Amino acid sequence: MKAENMTRIQFMSLSVNEGYARGAAAAFLARYDPTVPQLSDIKTAVSEAVTNCIVHAYPDHVGPITMTVAVYPGREVRITIADKGVGIPDVTKAMEPLFTTGNPEERSGLGFAVMQSFMDKVKVSSRVGGGTRVTLIKHLAERETAVST
Ligand code: ATP
Ligand code: MG
Repeated sequence: MKAENMTRIQFMSLSVNEGYARGAAAAFLARYDPTVPQLSDIKTAVSEAVTNCIVHAYPDHVGPITMTVAVYPGREVRITIADKGVGIPDVTKAMEPLFTTGNPEERSGLGFAVMQSFMDKVKVSSRVGGGTRVTLIKHLAERETAVST
């Protein structure tokens, strides 16, 4: 299926850019009039995916993160967050709740669980040494068309 609208941004894996990515996704989707809870869910999921790139993909240097936001017919939103970092050796295991390779004092291993509960679907593909691509999918609720008088 062909996207009816799409945007793509690239930014450095600096923690200041997590808010930028979240805000950019929200600004792009605003014209689709998402409900406040749905927009909040999407922003939270984007934050988790981008934070993972900043913390895990590039643990000791700064690298590029690409975010693509696309809207498909039927109001399906697909957000892809991709890095060229270390990659994930076992994606199934990484997605288990409470699994973390991070500092247990800072990380709880719940990022993927949050993404899965806040989005309809989460797809992850990764290659060790090649990077990771997370796709967050959510169907926006239908909205009443405004009646112009
Ligand atoms: P939390 O999100 O609760 O702070 P966390 O980041 O460790 O903790 P998840 O977001 O669920 O938990 O990620 C689980 C694990 O998957 C991470 O600890 C890391 O090993 C791996 N991981 C996730 N995203 C990436 C990524 N973009 N690149 C490399 N490894 C990743
Ligand atoms: Mg995380």
